[in-house]
Amino acid sequence: VSDLMDKVVSLCKRRGFIFPSAEIYGGFRSTYDYGPLGSLMLQKVKGAWWMDMVQKRRDVVPIDAAILSSPKIWEASGHLANFTDPLVDCRNCKERWRADHIDGVCPKCGSSDLTDARAFNMMFKTFVGPVEDAAAVAYLRPETAQGMFVNFKLVQQSLSLKPPFGIAQVGKSFRNEITPGNFVFRTREFEQMEMEYFVHPGEAVKWHEYWYGERYNWYLSLGIPKEMIRLRHHDKEELSHYSAGTVDVEFLFPWGWGELEGIANRTDYDLRAHMNASGEDLTYFDQTSGERYLPYVIEPAAGATRTMMAFLIAGYSEDEVAGEKRTLLRLHPRVAPYTVCVLPLSKKPELKEVAERIYGELSESFSVAYDDTQSIGKRYRRQDEIGTPFCVTVDFDTLTDGAVTVRDRDSTQQIRIPISELYDHISLRVRT
Ligand code: ATP
Repeated sequence: VSDLMDKVVSLCKRRGFIFPSAEIYGGFRSTYDYGPLGSLMLQKVKGAWWMDMVQKRRDVVPIDAAILSSPKIWEASGHLANFTDPLVDCRNCKERWRADHIDGVCPKCGSSDLTDARAFNMMFKTFVGPVEDAAAVAYLRPETAQGMFVNFKLVQQSLSLKPPFGIAQVGKSFRNEITPGNFVFRTREFEQMEMEYFVHPGEAVKWHEYWYGERYNWYLSLGIPKEMIRLRHHDKEELSHYSAGTVDVEFLFPWGWGELEGIANRTDYDLRAHMNASGEDLTYFDQTSGERYLPYVIEPAAGATRTMMAFLIAGYSEDEVAGEKRTLLRLHPRVAPYTVCVLPLSKKPELKEVAERIYGELSESFSVAYDDTQSIGKRYRRQDEIGTPFCVTVDFDTLTDGAVTVRDRDSTQQIRIPISELYDHISLRVRT
């Protein structure tokens, strides 16, 4: 079990996906930096979400709100009072833990001499401007969602939007987690992909069901195997203070089921709280029905970094090709760091010229790798290991038949395709 995790973590470092932050100084408190392949892949994960949740949807618009945010937002939203985790200290070894993550026993030294749990607020606090006083306090947002609520009216009016409609945002959030860990599953700085879908209160239940169905299917469409993903309904005691119903999309991590995304019916909790605190009227007037109401909100809230890690774990595999062991990442073409690698069979100038031309054309639409070092077999293995679904090889026949070989990562099968059809061929295979 942890063997798989070790292999993924090691591949991530070796091949430039994810590094411990400030590694040359010995790392820094469970923070991570995304290397060349990691930042490409994270971009792909966010891009796939954006494509399916924003670009393809006439009913969803995006925003990009500030990370540094007013204490008034978090006071009204309930985060200042409620966004806490129960913290306990071990009296024996002085280690600190989240009470609900341990079973009354310190995981480090085994002692059960623990302090009572106290509420620890997870928001990062800072000061804006040169004076560090109460008036200068700001918070790094612990979720992107409040950006959609406080801008609800401005967004709705700017585009004359009528419910049901959604406001979406992708960006960093910060939580002072007591026990970060399991690689990038839980970090203090992470990236979220969230959408707030504003609906008539009478339709909230229907839309909630619609969205958790959609979101479950999204992970399947990106190649997560059915047996590694499930929907879990929260029971009453587990619901957050704002929720009338939450369903999580969970993934089978090497240590067990863990949340990738929560789809909550947040009711009108947030809009009402901001309306009361700010004095702004946030109700919506439906001119057709003559009804004025405060919309309910259905929120699919996903983690981009955590989802990327799930793709890496689901995709990691080892097999044998022609008696030789290989490591490969079976990533869906939409989330693989590189979609294609172009490989001239040798460094001969005539091959190089064609290969560079193909690179130039494909890189207008795809992220493309280029590799002309070492044997072709070694180069295929390198691309398999980073999950590149297609390798395009330019050989001496190319100079006469104008065609190239396209090799499939998973089956290792090769087919011959005219260069003029390459773009269409790859586009089609990325989409299916
Ligand atoms: P958890 O119970 O795991 O702490 P949560 O229920 O508090 O998560 P939400 O507030 O619903 O999480 O946030 C939505 C999504 O953001 C989560 O499903 C997860 O993918 C991601 N996320 C939340 N906290 C972290 C974190 N510390 N590190 C990485 N991703 C996170």
